[in-house]
Amino acid sequence: MNTNITLPVPVHRVLSRLNQGGYEAFAVGGCVRDRLLGREPEDWDVATSATPQEMKEIFGDIPHFDTGIRHGTLTLLVDQMPIETTTYRVEGCYSDRRHPDTVTFTRLLGRDLARRDFTINALAYHPSVGLVDLYGGVADLTRGLLRCVGEPDRRFQEDALRILRGLRFAAQLGFALEEGTRQSLLRSRQLLGDIAQERIAAEFQKLLCGRWAAPVLREYVQVVGIFLPELLPMVGFDQHNHHHIYDVWEHTLHALEHTDPGDRILRWAVLLHDVGKPSCFSLDEQGVGHFYGHPQAGEALARQALQRLKLDRDTVDQVCTLVHMHDVALPENPATIRRWVGRYSLETVRQFLAIRRADHGAQAHAQEKEQAIDRWETLLEEVLRENPCCQQRQLAISGRELLALGIPSGPEMGRILTRLLDRVVEGTLPNEPDALLAEAGNLWRTASHS
Ligand code: ATP
Ligand code: MG
Repeated sequence: MNTNITLPVPVHRVLSRLNQGGYEAFAVGGCVRDRLLGREPEDWDVATSATPQEMKEIFGDIPHFDTGIRHGTLTLLVDQMPIETTTYRVEGCYSDRRHPDTVTFTRLLGRDLARRDFTINALAYHPSVGLVDLYGGVADLTRGLLRCVGEPDRRFQEDALRILRGLRFAAQLGFALEEGTRQSLLRSRQLLGDIAQERIAAEFQKLLCGRWAAPVLREYVQVVGIFLPELLPMVGFDQHNHHHIYDVWEHTLHALEHTDPGDRILRWAVLLHDVGKPSCFSLDEQGVGHFYGHPQAGEALARQALQRLKLDRDTVDQVCTLVHMHDVALPENPATIRRWVGRYSLETVRQFLAIRRADHGAQAHAQEKEQAIDRWETLLEEVLRENPCCQQRQLAISGRELLALGIPSGPEMGRILTRLLDRVVEGTLPNEPDALLAEAGNLWRTASHS
């Protein structure tokens, strides 16, 4: 592995300024790992022997934020690039398994690297010193292994979030867990119960959007089940139905492999789309399995899980809408398509298609079913090319024109607008001002005479 890294100019400047002040400074952690792997880092972190006070003296002229000053972190804004700069530190014990009880600064890089979670994250780099790799991080990067720095049981006891971070890196990088780390992680999984839901959700969402999420979820569902117990009844649940070649959980994982890792709403929705199946199962007289009502039951379970994880309301609503609608029949004519685009958003309709594609891709007779979706997608695109009117605000007239006709604003005007939209969407009225005004006049006369 080539261990030379090109640092962005702003990071270089931060290192040089600290060095000129007589302090050590290195790029550390995830950014070094990602550069060695040829990936673009999420963020750049610098570790330094300077204390927060000393940093402030050096960077007085650069915009900075006291992100976590008590923990030694200052965020410097250099040429628009935020760089988290943190004093080398040793962490004390973690009596609540969440936050270190004390933060002790140190002047030794080696002690700072020792507190980091995995060997591949305990790397530091300086352009003239080169790579500092005290724990065999480069060898593990080459082999594709996640290994705790130090004794795994102790490291997971100190901060149980590391359990989930380990799985998250496995899902993002396609790495395996080193055997000792793996055994300890499985043994320690209950400790995740003590971690704040927001922290769990942030890490789990990264896991879910990782390219290797499906194999990681397959192997470690008992760990994920600690904070998402709703998933567990799906594991091994036989569907007794010729449409299905997999049990519910295997089907879900295959569907996940058919969805874009970049769309987090879609990834959540696919993970949870069949979560309602186990509780809705029935067998008919022929011994065929059915799951009547599972989208509704699934929506309720999904909402419960996502709210417990404290996901924001928009995310919860979007995911639940998709879980609810994932099994409905595809609208077959342009009018119904326009109605859908009006009722949901176009983005939701496209996500629905993507779920349906993933769902069918993971069933028996996948090819025929995909062809039906292809046909439907073509129809959707044709409808959209006509730039259709799907919502009230797209009508060629508004409430203002109706007022001018003498229709008072209020519920009756609302009903008239809804009726006009219905007819335009059905295709029985053109979306043109004259036609709309004439029809509005008719509706108003009929309403006022009845
Ligand atoms: P990402 O690509 O998501 O930024 P990352 O590895 O950089 O991944 P960060 O949360 O940015 O993760 O943390 C930066 C570095 O801090 C890590 O690489 C690791 O060295 C250290 N670190 C973060 N969280 C922990 C933790 N819970 N325990 C030990 N070390 C940690
Ligand atoms: Mg990072």
